[in-house]
Amino acid sequence: MSTCSSCGASFECGMADGPADVPCWCTQLPTLPPEAYVRNAGGGSAGCFCPDCLRALISRSLERPAAGDS
Ligand SMILES: [Zn+2]
Repeated sequence: MSTCSSCGASFECGMADGPADVPCWCTQLPTLPPEAYVRNAGGGSAGCFCPDCLRALISRSLERPAAGDS
């Protein structure tokens, strides 16, 4: 089991828990820039997020793209 960096929930990570030849469910979701994960990780370091938090993080990031885009 892996622990969500945002809410602390336990979840299955394909990379950590599954067979090496099976991609993690998270590969099905859009990829965010690394800083998006770091900003939303409670401990200040990027890690894995549970499906709920990762989807929420992606939808938030897509709605509000990073600043600096004028
Ligand atoms: Zn979570």
